[in-house]
Amino acid sequence: MHKGIADKFVAISSKIKAACEKAQRSNDEIRLVAVSKLQPIDVINEAYALGINNFGENYAKELAEKSSACPKDIIWHFIGPIQSNKVGLIAKHANWVHSIDREKIARKLNDALETENKKIHALVQVNIDREESKSGILPEEAVDFSNELMAHYPNLILEGLMFMPKINTSKKAKIDTMRKIADLQKKILYKLPGCTHLSLGTSSDFEESISTGSTILRIGESLLGKRS
Ligand SMILES: *Cc1c(COP(=O)(O)O)cnc(C)c1O
Repeated sequence: MHKGIADKFVAISSKIKAACEKAQRSNDEIRLVAVSKLQPIDVINEAYALGINNFGENYAKELAEKSSACPKDIIWHFIGPIQSNKVGLIAKHANWVHSIDREKIARKLNDALETENKKIHALVQVNIDREESKSGILPEEAVDFSNELMAHYPNLILEGLMFMPKINTSKKAKIDTMRKIADLQKKILYKLPGCTHLSLGTSSDFEESISTGSTILRIGESLLGKRS
């Protein structure tokens, strides 16, 4: 039988609640971002009607189209790689950006936000597993990079760190990686006490991510259904 978004939302919410209890954390610390890339606007509206109001997009043009067409109080998260010719669209349409990983992009985004007279919540993407195929700065650069951003780009409100988990690794390896990024965040917090967020969890590992301190979960198909 086809399970609708409502059923999936109930199931995921109760898993989040149970994982929070187990980790002795408050449910209020967790922000669920429904990853809506390549999903039609109807799907977003259906999820919004259930009370979901954080959505994640990977492509700037798609973000712009959807944010123009959907309810105005939706909080949009840009979670994909940032191309420098798209920073204007991202500045205009996103409230959060999870994938800051280069100074050049930070500078261009900061300038575009100046034009929009707007600030954005920003996360630094870290390539914690040092995977060649993956974007993100290397872990040893994260502290200096975060300090640089705070010092020079006032339109980026630095909130913490994000990473993309390796696919097809064991639960234990994922937890080890998540612990590493949580430790890295502690080093950053020492100088930048506002960097309280970790965007770690995805569909396959969000319960583990809650036990290791994630505050933002990015969940796509297991909540909204298969992408087209
Ligand atoms: C697509 C995507 C997700 C969600 O993936 P699902 O497997 O659909 O849950 C999470 N984070 C990022 C950065 C993504 O691009």
